[in-house]
Amino acid sequence: MATFEDSYKHQGQRKQLVNELKKKGISDAGVLAAIGKVPRHFFFERTFHEFAYKDQAFPIGDGQTISHPFTVAYQSQVLHVQKGEKILEIGTGSGYQACVLLELGAKLYTIERQANLYHKTKAFLHEMGYRAHFFLGDGSKGLPSHAPFDKIIVTAGAPFVPPALVSQLKAGGIMIIPVGDEKNQRMLSVIKKTDGSFDQVELDSFRFVPLIGDNAW
Ligand code: SAM
Repeated sequence: MATFEDSYKHQGQRKQLVNELKKKGISDAGVLAAIGKVPRHFFFERTFHEFAYKDQAFPIGDGQTISHPFTVAYQSQVLHVQKGEKILEIGTGSGYQACVLLELGAKLYTIERQANLYHKTKAFLHEMGYRAHFFLGDGSKGLPSHAPFDKIIVTAGAPFVPPALVSQLKAGGIMIIPVGDEKNQRMLSVIKKTDGSFDQVELDSFRFVPLIGDNAW
């Protein structure tokens, strides 16, 4: 079971992780502070605590993973979150990325397609004191009943940019989404224009688990 003890050792390891992310190119002070605050070891079984502050992904059960801290920081940095912004996260997973966005002041809507992860993470984040709106379903369709959003973050690899998601962005809004095949995806920053079309900027390459759904794999 997870533990809620945040020792000096863990705090020190978090500082080291923040320094490592700085060296890897994360420069947004807010994002670095958020990574420095969220106790990532809470997401791990006690026996695996030694892996919590390494910059690596880790299995969280049900064939899913908690993303690399670098990936979480990278996507958060591109989103450039402002306090109070309404953000949709697709792929709640462990909830770690959600906690980082909440630390940045997001008003967060997060959707997960796997029922067990949805229930587990919703309860876990509540227990830790993080407040978000949780949904169970196919995030490739977005969340039309709560649209539009200032920003959208997709944390699973998509085969293309789902038009449904672009349509749920506000004009001027940003979506960060990894797009490619099963093995390799290019991170795209999608910026919605006032006429409803969008510009996209290709960023670095990553490898995510697949986005599965009606507008996905
Ligand atoms: N943001 C997560 C975190 O911080 O741990 C990382 C999540 S993991 C890399 C990707 C997640 O996306 C998995 O939990 C997977 O079940 C979920 N997923 C895949 N397709 C989805 C879809 N269409 N809608 C919602 N969630 C989806």
